[in-house]
Order: sequence, then structure tokens, then C-alpha cells
Amino acid sequence: MTAALGYAAEIAKAPLVPFTFERRATGPRDVRIEIAYCGVCHSDLHQVRDEWGHGIFPMVPGHEIVGRVIEVGAQVRQFKAGDLAGVGCMVDSCRSCASCRDGLEQYCEQGFTGTYNGRERDTRQPTYGGYSNHIVVDEAFVLRISPRLDLAATAPLLCAGITTYSPLRHWKVGPGQKVGVVGLGGLGHMALKFAHAFGAEVVLFTTSPGKEADARRLGASDVVISKNKDEMNRHARSFDFIIDTVSAPHDINAYLGLLRRDGTMTLIGVPDTPPTLQFQHLIFSRRKLGGSLIGGIAETQEMLDFCAERGIVSDIELIPMQKINEAYERMLKSDVKYRFVLDIATLAG
Ligand SMILES: [Zn+2]
Ligand SMILES: [Zn+2]
Repeated sequence: MTAALGYAAEIAKAPLVPFTFERRATGPRDVRIEIAYCGVCHSDLHQVRDEWGHGIFPMVPGHEIVGRVIEVGAQVRQFKAGDLAGVGCMVDSCRSCASCRDGLEQYCEQGFTGTYNGRERDTRQPTYGGYSNHIVVDEAFVLRISPRLDLAATAPLLCAGITTYSPLRHWKVGPGQKVGVVGLGGLGHMALKFAHAFGAEVVLFTTSPGKEADARRLGASDVVISKNKDEMNRHARSFDFIIDTVSAPHDINAYLGLLRRDGTMTLIGVPDTPPTLQFQHLIFSRRKLGGSLIGGIAETQEMLDFCAERGIVSDIELIPMQKINEAYERMLKSDVKYRFVLDIATLAG
């Protein structure tokens, strides 16, 4: 066991405070990573407030982790000390169910092991996330990070990046297609970048005027204020694919009507109250409504390699660890462009 330093919520809804805990010794297949940066995901906020229930406290959040390998076990093949490495939302899965065998560990039928607020499969010890100075992870769940990308801005790719990349790839978004992105936050800004990079024509839907210049810079060719019926009608029956990143309650029927025949809308945000669905939008134009959760390890690596090739990272605001509670308050007001990233070097300060 090795002592680690992090920031934790000691009980549900408590502010995050410095916290010391133990990490397991580096096992034969383990990689120990000195964490440099960790992105701040909306789900961190939900989980430290125990809004999804069954939270394990004290809780050290963080699943957008990048850093440098400092130690590897005897059987590790992919990594050596000094390599850049990343860890996303998962640190393990059953590795034998149909989804795991297909490389889709995020849909593990036994449930994947969360990077934090989970339990290790063998010891049942709680997992602690990336708001900490180091982490020990089985190499099968560690990602390679290119030195060509800005390291801090790479961190959010591990959750916000793959969460948007995976559905765009799965539904084969590409040139000649018109794609809608609903919401411009941590997820939405990555969806704009990826859909644009895949060659699609991209339109942003937002409730807030004033996001137009940013949306265009990020890859949108048009911006629609979703409350404006005329603007919405202008795009009726024209989209091949819509990705809805919004987790606040909202009307999804208005967007279904913007899909062309056989078009697909995919949800990646989970509202507290389920929306009502008008089935005729699906039935009369054979449209599809789907959902998608992060991505498998192989696809996450593919996404990171694609980003390295194309120079894609997140737009971030780098903050010291001590500002995390303030950052949560600002996230609740959507006051971030577009992802907070913690500078873990400030942890000991
Ligand atoms: Zn996340
Ligand atoms: Zn499985």
C-alpha cells in the first residue's frame, strides 16, 4: 500500500477537503500513474452530492485523468516509466460477458468498475478517482496519450471526448450529412468539434443567445435558438443525426421533428425527470431514438489517436485544486468554457 493525497467529500453534499488514503501496491499487471491533470465532469458533482444514490464516502471524484507512468508491474507490456498515460471512467470490467468480449466494456453486463465511487472486483475496496496525486490501474484500462497534445486540455477527452465521439462514430456521421448538437457545454463543445472533424455540416441548438461566435469557432455552420419556433421550423425534416447532450429537463419532441425520414437522435445526458415522448415523431417517419454511454477502451484509444492526428483537445479553464468547490458552484450556473481541469501539482500547496 502507498499513501495518496487527494480531495474528498467526506459525506454526501459536503465540500471537498484534503484527504489522505491508501492506494494498492503496483500488481504484476498494474500501472502507477503520477497524475498531472484531472478534468471536472458534471457527474462528479452529481456523485459527491449523492444525487444518483448509493454513493461510497469518503469519495475522491475524478475520471478524466492524465499523467505520467511512474511504475509498472512485471507483466505490463504497453507502458513503461516516463510514458504519458490516461484513465477515463472505468478501471475494470468482468472481461468475459458478450459486451466485454466485443470491446464494449462500458456496457459490461455485470457493470463496469467506476474509476471512483466503485469497488474493486476482487477486494471490494472502494475506488478513488483523479482528484489525487497518483492512481494504480490495470494496464488493460490505461490509455496512451500523445505528447503532441496539450496535456491539461487532453484530460476531458477521457470522458467528455469519448462520450461524444462514440455515438458519432457508431451512427457513422460523416461528409454529406447534417448533424445537430443540442447544448453547448462540456459535452456539446466536443460534439461540435468531432462532428465537424468527421466532415458533417453541423448546427448547434442552444437556449442562450450569445453563444453563436463560439459555436462557429468550434465547427458549427449555423446556430439555432431552440425557443424560437421559426428558427426551429427552418430546419424541419433536415437532419440525418442529432446528438442531445443536455441533462436538464427539456422537450425532445421538438428535435425529433427536425430529423429527416430514417434519421436518428441520440441522448447522452440523463435528465432527472424523464421527458414525454410523442411516438408519432418516430412512427410516421421511421425515425430512431437512441442512447450511448462513454466508449470502450479500444475506441477511447482510437479517439485519442484521432485527436493527436487532428490536433483536437478540449477548451479548458485550468484551476488549482483549492478552487474545486467554487468550480462546482460555477458549473451549476454553466459558467465555464467549457471544462474545468484541475492542476494536480497544486494539491500539496
Ligand atoms: Zn464524466
Ligand atoms: Zn463484462
